Amino acid sequence: MIGSFTFENLPCRVVFGSGTLSAAPEELQRLGAKRALVLTTPQQEAQGRDLGSALGPPFAGIFSNATMHTPVEVTELALAAMKDCDADCIVSLGGGSTTGLGKALALRTGVNQLCIPTTYAGSEMTPILGETRDGLKTTVRTNDVLPETVIYDVDLTLSLPPALAATSGINAIAHAVEALYARDTNPVISLMAEEGIRALARALPAIVAKPDDREARSDALYGAWLCGVCLGTVGMALHHKLCHTLGGTFDLPHAETHTIVLPHALAYNAPAVPEAASRIARAIGSPDPARGLYDLARRLNAKLALRDIGMPEIGIDRAADLAVTNAYWNPQPIERNAIRALIERAWSGAAPVAPPVAA
Ligand code: NAD
Repeated sequence: MIGSFTFENLPCRVVFGSGTLSAAPEELQRLGAKRALVLTTPQQEAQGRDLGSALGPPFAGIFSNATMHTPVEVTELALAAMKDCDADCIVSLGGGSTTGLGKALALRTGVNQLCIPTTYAGSEMTPILGETRDGLKTTVRTNDVLPETVIYDVDLTLSLPPALAATSGINAIAHAVEALYARDTNPVISLMAEEGIRALARALPAIVAKPDDREARSDALYGAWLCGVCLGTVGMALHHKLCHTLGGTFDLPHAETHTIVLPHALAYNAPAVPEAASRIARAIGSPDPARGLYDLARRLNAKLALRDIGMPEIGIDRAADLAVTNAYWNPQPIERNAIRALIERAWSGAAPVAPPVAA
C-alpha cells in the first residue's frame, strides 16, 4: 500500500546524451545570458578554454581555480573575476568542487548557472552548498543555489580515470542508498534510487575493465543523475553524517571516504529498514546489500580502509564522539559503542557486520 507522502520536484532543465556539450550556446541563450564566466579546476582549465571557444561571443572569461570544499577565499577571487568580465551567468565545467563554486557565486549574485558535470558527485541536482571558512565547513540549503540548466555529456566523462569513476560512482550510490530509507522518502524517489544504484552497479565494473566503454559510461552518468536527484530531494542520515565528520576532521578525500564507509553504514541501518535493504540487494544483485557493496568496491580496486586514505588510528574515538553529538535522524538508533565499532571496521578495512543493537 502506498502511504501518504510529499514530493517536491526541483526546478531544473536537464540535457543528457553524447555530444550534448554542443548545446551549450543554445542553452545559454535560453537563459538569456550575454556574458558567461566559465569555471574549472586547474586540472580542467584546457577543457574550459575549449568550451569557451565553442561558446562564441557569450564567453566572457574563465576562472580555473575551483577547489575542493568551496573555500570562501576562492569564492571571493571568483567574484572579482565575475566583476572584471561583467559576467551575467556562470558555466561550471567539472566535478563537485567546480559545481560548488558556481553555487557559491549564484548565492551571492543571483546569476543563472549552466552546469556541466564531469564526475558522478551529483551536486548539480541539489539545493545544497557546503562552504569552508577558516577550516570550518558549513552547509546551506536554498533553491537559490540550484543550477537552472544541467548538461550531462557522456563524452566528458570518458577522461574520468577508472579509479576516480569507481569512487565517484559509489559516492553517488550512497545518495540513493540513504534516500531509500530517508525519513521523508517517497515512492518516486525510491524508483529513482533503485534504478540509479542498478545503473551504477552494472556500469562501474565495466568501466574499470574497459575505460572507453561508452555504453557503461552512459549508464553510469544516467545513474549518477538519478542519485543526485535523490540527494537533492530527501534527507540523508548516518552515512552522510559520518563521511562529513570524517572528511572534515581528518581532511580525507570525499569520494574515497564515501566508498569505504557506505557498506558499514548500510550494515548498521539495514536491520531497521528491510524494504530499503531488499531494494538495494535487488539493484546490486547480492543477497546481502552491505556485503554486496563491499564486494563491489573491492572488484573496482577501490581502497577499503580509512587507514589507507590518511585517517590515524587514534582518530577512531574522536570520530565516534563527533558522530554521536548533534542529534540527527537515523532509522537505527545511534549508539556510541556500535558506532565506534563501525568506524573501527571501516578504518581497518574489515567486512561490514550488523550492529548488536539491531537484535
Ligand atoms: P572534484 O570536483 O574535486 O574533482 C576531483 C578531480 O577530478 C579534480 O581535479 C577535477 O578537475 C578532476 N576531474 C573531474 N572530472 C574529470 C574528468 N571527467 N576527467 C578528468 N578529471 C576530472 O571531485 P568530486 O568528487 O566530483 O566533488 C567533491 C566535492 O563536491 C566535495 O567538496 C563535496 O563536498 C562536494 N559535493 C557537494 C554536493 C552538494 O550537494 N553540495 C554533493 C556532492 C559532492
